[in-house]
Amino acid sequence: MSKLPDSSSLREDTRIILSGRDPHRYGGMVNPPVYHVSTVLAETFEQLKSRDHIEESGVQEMAYGRKGTPTSWALENAVAELEGGHRCLAFSSGLGAVTGALLAFLKAGDHLLMTDSVYAPTRKFCNSLLKRFGVDTTYYDPLMGADISSLLRPNTGVVFTESPGSHTFEVQDIPAIAEAAHAHGAKVLMDNTWASPLFFKPFEHGVDVSIQAGTKYIVGHADAMLGTVTATKEAWPALRDCTGHLGQCAGPDDLYLAQRGFRTLAVRLRQHQASALVIAEWLQSRPEVRQVLFPALTGAPGHEIWKRDFLGASGLFAFELEPCTKEAVVTLLDGMRLFGMGYSWGGYESLLIPANVQNVRSAVPWRFEGPLLRIHIGLEDVDDLKDDLEDGLERLRNFRA
Ligand SMILES: *Cc1c(COP(=O)(O)O)cnc(C)c1O
Repeated sequence: MSKLPDSSSLREDTRIILSGRDPHRYGGMVNPPVYHVSTVLAETFEQLKSRDHIEESGVQEMAYGRKGTPTSWALENAVAELEGGHRCLAFSSGLGAVTGALLAFLKAGDHLLMTDSVYAPTRKFCNSLLKRFGVDTTYYDPLMGADISSLLRPNTGVVFTESPGSHTFEVQDIPAIAEAAHAHGAKVLMDNTWASPLFFKPFEHGVDVSIQAGTKYIVGHADAMLGTVTATKEAWPALRDCTGHLGQCAGPDDLYLAQRGFRTLAVRLRQHQASALVIAEWLQSRPEVRQVLFPALTGAPGHEIWKRDFLGASGLFAFELEPCTKEAVVTLLDGMRLFGMGYSWGGYESLLIPANVQNVRSAVPWRFEGPLLRIHIGLEDVDDLKDDLEDGLERLRNFRA
């Protein structure tokens, strides 16, 4: 078993440096070695047999590449510690983590309650594969709190949450939802990617299983795909067994990049947050902007619950423009110098894309009249970002005129 330093009495910025690392086990190397391995040889028959049930034993010892290596444990133990759960497993992508977690807690004949604001590929998985395997999904209004009781059925196995929603930023009342779900015997799963393991502590708010698209802030540099699922002690065996059956495992180089990105997560997030607040406040004051959807902004939708439950905000939010033509939005987007146009987020660079996802929503009417843009505030100088946006808004205004 890897000897983890006891960092429970230390502050979070220190714990993120220590968690999951054990340098003296590897000749003093600060970072864990990258293990490229499938076959692990045993010295004796007895040792070979002793590894047959290694996952169930909970011991972190190499038995076969897919079952875990010091490279995967370095990341998994760090995420489990900072997110505040029992154990964590790494997946080959964020979507792999979402689907793996859903499969672990659902069976044919079950009912699934899914937030209407969920990441679109998660919705596709429910409507296709889960449906084919006999799981019935109901989409619910993300702003429902305790009222979700009215949608829970005796066969509801999972209530899935994502807060804030990664396009429209509804902040969910997770404690109220968890209380209602648990009263009906359902598990609460959460896609906690927006807040990262640092800014929302899911297990303190009743979540049973927390998912991270590690591709975003944990990796942090737009160069690797990765997902994590962290569970409570009670939920852990089901997650561990299902993941084993699925044969999910992440590649060693991506695991390495993720654990390396994790060390600087706290400082990066502080800057993403600070710059995002500056840009959000500035956008709020612009006549071309109807509404800013950033829960950390005073007066923004969801701010009260965000303030109650979250420890900070990351750099991803959306804003609604005053109604205008699609062509006007295209001139804004096409001329951006610093903001790239591309999917994903959480890297060091700024991004700006349309977020008009009304066609995939089914539970609540679309609340926006103008075009919605989703913005990721990277680590560039905030005044340069503001200049780029100011020019973009000017192109928009001129196009209208
Ligand atoms: C990106 C994303 C995912 C999926 O992660 P991938 O690594 O791209 O598969 C899941 N949930 C949310 C909220 C995301 O933004």
